Amino acid sequence: MTARILIVDDIPANTRLLEAKLAAEYFQVASAREGAEALELARHWQPDLILLDVMMPGMDGFECCRRLKDDPATLHIPVVMVTALGEATERVVGLDAGADDFLSKPVEYTTLMSRVRSLIRLKRMLDEWRARAETVRALGLSAQPLPPPSVSGARVLVVDDWDGEATTIRAALAEEGLTCLRARDGIEAMALAAANPLDLIVVSLGITEEDPLALASGLRAADATHAVPQLLIGDIAERERLQRGFELGANDWLLLPLDPHELRARARNQIRRKLYQDRLRADLGEAIELAVTDPLTGLYNRRYLTRHLQSLMDQSPPPHLALMLIDVDFFKAVNDAHGHAAGDRVLRAVAEVLRANIRAFDTLARYGGEEFVVIMPGAGPDQAAAAAERLRLAVAELPLAPVLGMPGLGMQALGTQALGMPAENTPMAAHPLTVSIGVGVSGQDADTAEELIAVSDGALYAAKRAGRNRVELARDALEADPAA
Ligand SMILES: [Mg+2]
Repeated sequence: MTARILIVDDIPANTRLLEAKLAAEYFQVASAREGAEALELARHWQPDLILLDVMMPGMDGFECCRRLKDDPATLHIPVVMVTALGEATERVVGLDAGADDFLSKPVEYTTLMSRVRSLIRLKRMLDEWRARAETVRALGLSAQPLPPPSVSGARVLVVDDWDGEATTIRAALAEEGLTCLRARDGIEAMALAAANPLDLIVVSLGITEEDPLALASGLRAADATHAVPQLLIGDIAERERLQRGFELGANDWLLLPLDPHELRARARNQIRRKLYQDRLRADLGEAIELAVTDPLTGLYNRRYLTRHLQSLMDQSPPPHLALMLIDVDFFKAVNDAHGHAAGDRVLRAVAEVLRANIRAFDTLARYGGEEFVVIMPGAGPDQAAAAAERLRLAVAELPLAPVLGMPGLGMQALGTQALGMPAENTPMAAHPLTVSIGVGVSGQDADTAEELIAVSDGALYAAKRAGRNRVELARDALEADPAA
């Protein structure tokens, strides 16, 4: 995961230490010595995360955070406050200023890395929604902007089998104007979640009848709750399990004894972010979706993809992203041998396999006929090549007979002759459905949207020429044949 991280600290030795640790994990790092410089860098360099010292001469970390969160150009960037004090009251002031998380000095390495990765994952998701909303505006399809979301009235599910603690949690959240539901176990939680739209789930690690982490991941996987933020509550002695829960997808955690102010502030931050994401999603709207969606596969269409890629590539600074151009091998043969209805089912099945095997913040579109495109924000050549290889394998493993509507009879049974495949390129016996993939990377292979599509297309052509059912990188394709 490559990302930009801004470190703000008035003591250069602190900055250098963090810089070295983060650079070792291949993050791009910049630093600022004071608040005003940090605001300026945040606006123009657009980091993916800011590590912000609390105690600084002049503008302190709290004020700096407040200004970052007031500025539409920076409010979406997660801020982690780094404090020497670690006092509960300090944390509440920081959370009120809009901080997304806290680390105490000296910064503990494992905690730092897990929090950094989790917040960057979340930021990628929000970036993707922001970019999509932007594309929709560029297409002239945007609905009226909605008023800023209010936390009051949001619905929280508290999963806790201890009555005393649940009561304390409910009382604290009620003061924030939040509506609370209570579940004692996973089954009750699932039932309540299915019946009520939720904005936050609080899970106590003190639950004894079942594994609370399994419960939390179950909620993360369920349709009704997969996008709902999760807040874990646990004892300091359970620190490792909290960490584990965080890695499994929880959004934040809170230590006992429960500080009602901190609980409210953390709940508020999580809910705000969820509502922000909901709003960006609503911007896309159903009518808009129809205009930019391919009716056969339900994926984005070429028109959307082209504009979306354009607005991504126009960003300043230029983004890191990879583009895959995916083409179904011998698709004409499927149509010829089985008819167009079967061809359509094959395209839908391939679309489904691709959708299931990309990251939530990747964009997948049907580019034309039997061609698909995946845009991978933040991916370099190695990561994109590995992802493309995964997609290639996933398609090759697709059981084809049910897709073709011929139980027990796949393309294999027809032999390559009937499919009109050129004999020199295909084994005679079995031939599963496969794809060829060309991969281009922004910056390295191309600087504009058109170039990126062109070099990926060149790589796809090289993959086809080299025998199909393979991944080819634009970099390698260009090296092999500079004239192409
Ligand atoms: Mg300081």
